[in-house]
Amino acid sequence: DASAVDAVIVGAGVAGLTAARALRRVGFSVAVLEARERVGGRTLSQSLGGEVVDLGGQWVGPQQRHVLRLADELGLRRFPQHHRGTKVLEVRGERRTYRGQVPSLPLLSLLDLQRVIWKLDGLAKRVPLERPGAAPRAAEWDALTLEEWKQRHVPTWGARAALDIATRAVFAAEPSELSFLHFLFYVHSNHGLMPLTTIEGGAQAERFTGGAQTLGLRMAGELGARVHLSTPVRAVLQDEGGVTVTADGDRAWRARYAVVAVPPALAERIDFGAALPPERRRAHADLPMGSVIKVVATYERPFWREAGFSGEAVSDTGPVRLCFDDCSADGHHPALVGFFLGETARQWTHRPPAERRRAALESFARFFGPQALRPTAVADLDWIAEPWSKGCYVGLPRPGALTAIGDALRAPFGRVHWAGTETALEGCGYLDGAVESGERAATELAARLSLPATSPSRVQVVTG
Ligand code: FAD
Repeated sequence: DASAVDAVIVGAGVAGLTAARALRRVGFSVAVLEARERVGGRTLSQSLGGEVVDLGGQWVGPQQRHVLRLADELGLRRFPQHHRGTKVLEVRGERRTYRGQVPSLPLLSLLDLQRVIWKLDGLAKRVPLERPGAAPRAAEWDALTLEEWKQRHVPTWGARAALDIATRAVFAAEPSELSFLHFLFYVHSNHGLMPLTTIEGGAQAERFTGGAQTLGLRMAGELGARVHLSTPVRAVLQDEGGVTVTADGDRAWRARYAVVAVPPALAERIDFGAALPPERRRAHADLPMGSVIKVVATYERPFWREAGFSGEAVSDTGPVRLCFDDCSADGHHPALVGFFLGETARQWTHRPPAERRRAALESFARFFGPQALRPTAVADLDWIAEPWSKGCYVGLPRPGALTAIGDALRAPFGRVHWAGTETALEGCGYLDGAVESGERAATELAARLSLPATSPSRVQVVTG
């Protein structure tokens, strides 16, 4: 027999758990159904070399008010990301070092880069977060890739290289894969290009003591037996009276409403019935995930710090394209963290893990010295190969998709509401957006659940 609750939440990532927690706190009954045997989704914290490291989402910054508020409520502690010292920039295979904020590029490239950042931030502000399709040149910008825009508007090689590097770091995708309109939306949603790409004062400012997965673990702890693990949902079908959610093993839940808090690319696997609007189908088909493999290596000594390096490196050479110091808060557990991103991640997803780890250590050694080849432990996670993520960090609308999908990313489909960082107005793609979207979905549901069950017509949502 189907168990009955006010709301079923599909997905125990940060978004789904935030929605479930918020609904429960105002007195509604919930069931959270999670495909994996763990909560946290795109966050995963595990022990390595005696310290907890993050193999998924990791950093938060001062602009990210939703996740910071939730973390404070849950009593989580944070510490600043280490960034003092010399940074490494590898462009066109050449290793350069610099200190401070200004990368070691020719003056002409630096001036061009400054102009490009200013220009992109200005254009981003013109993309309305609620309706990117209402931006002044939305159709034209959505048909254009970031790569095409760059070819037309960025003359110097140095600024082009910097834009490529920043794009891969922020999106885990190539400039040729990104809709220019979506790029601008994302920059706007995340408070500008500099906050996105910097440590101090930016999205990489702080880490969670004990790892970012503690966000989900704490919320799941509060929810207790309401969270059902190893429960892949296959169908979310609705009728006049409610929603029937079916999971593997013919398990079923009956609810008045559902929140689907999985990335659109994963929602594609769920049967929502024939009435699912075409715009929503398009969202499932045309928001493929980015491509990232994350590697953490622990060491006896923080040899890079001892040699005056901050641990920050960016590269257009690879395979590691982005690197940070990953030491514990007290510095006693030295570690580096690196990312394979976009095309490079896709090239390495089919290679043996041992080879991949070796290649990562060789990148670290090029950045900071040969001691990098002698770690005490290494862990990596290929998010492309994760069946319940299909890639990371986030779903990226193909060129043309954002304007075609319109508000179907967020607009409820009858009794089914949508959450997940892809649906966020603020902090889209980040933990912050996951929290924002979970809170928004809970608010939508609480309003409907508070009305007498006999008058659903008053809140009928028109879709399609
Ligand atoms: P998810 O975490 O994907 O949750 C969705 C859940 O639904 C998953 O648990 C999944 O298993 C489950 N699911 C899917 N299909 C079904 C189904 N059919 N039935 C039941 N359950 C299902 N963000 C930051 O803010 N800072 C960072 O530093 C950062 N770095 C990142 C680095 C990496 C390597 C990765 C992978 C991500 C990073 N992110 C970062 C992004 C951040 O982790 C995500 O934005 C956030 O965790 C998304 O949460 P979510 O709840 O929206 O989605």
